[in-house]
Amino acid sequence: MMEVRAKKALGQHFLTDQKVARAIVDALGSTCPAPTGHPMPTLEVGPGMGVLTQYLLEREDIDLRLIEIDSESVEYLLTHFQGMEGRLMEGDFLRLKLEKIFPSAFAIIGNFPYNISSQIFFKVLDYKDQIPEVVGMVQKEVAERIAEKPGSKTYGILSVLLQAWYDIEYLFTVGSGCFAPPPKVESAVIRLTRNGRTSLGCDEALFKTVVKTAFGQRRKMMRNPLKPLAAAKASREGWTQEQLSAFLAQPVFSQRPEQLSVEDFVELTNLLR
Ligand code: SAH
Repeated sequence: MMEVRAKKALGQHFLTDQKVARAIVDALGSTCPAPTGHPMPTLEVGPGMGVLTQYLLEREDIDLRLIEIDSESVEYLLTHFQGMEGRLMEGDFLRLKLEKIFPSAFAIIGNFPYNISSQIFFKVLDYKDQIPEVVGMVQKEVAERIAEKPGSKTYGILSVLLQAWYDIEYLFTVGSGCFAPPPKVESAVIRLTRNGRTSLGCDEALFKTVVKTAFGQRRKMMRNPLKPLAAAKASREGWTQEQLSAFLAQPVFSQRPEQLSVEDFVELTNLLR
């Protein structure tokens, strides 16, 4: 079978640089090794023609599964690699019921389709207690945003939500010349390693809502976007209008969301409870 034709709608940019492929695979498990004697169940998202897969299969400390949406790529992998049966699933990662495939911890790796990279990370958050490590290649701007600290213009929803649960490392930048066809943007590889947190110290669902709502108007003082949440608390507590105004006069509401650390958002969430 010939090579897979790159399909734009599926975000297909095939990595052609073998050194980069090896470096991505080497990044997995180097800070977060599997318990000895137990290969780490690992899911590769979007293997394409298998440039990462070939190195993943060499590793005895990895028990590999793959999910690929493109049937042409699936066919390619089946004909070019041994042992794909039972490991390779054809389908959409975003719709995959991960708990049906992995009873316990598993890692994720991939040169992610850039059009769905944010959704991939939101899904990682849904399964954070089962996913100790993620190594992924994404658009450079997305990698920077995720790794960014408070105070920066690109610090956003995914930065806060992911940093709450993961240590983020920006590993290296990959130029567009390393791909066929070359994407319009530069790429970067990041590693997420689950931090020690088991709970945030606040209502986690409300935390998500607060972060998303606050960044809904990121250039404004948070008093604006968070007013409805404060009003909801006021009605729960039976506050007067004056009490609500006094509540919203607290200094934290004069800040912009990009200035707040994870801990600040935890405090804010408890305030709004
Ligand atoms: N890993 C390969 C391909 C990267 S391109 C390489 O490095 O060369 C992204 C890959 O993700 C493509 O193969 C594309 O078909 C696949 N893909 C796109 N959307 C997907 C989805 N929702 N679920 C699973 N795979 C997907």
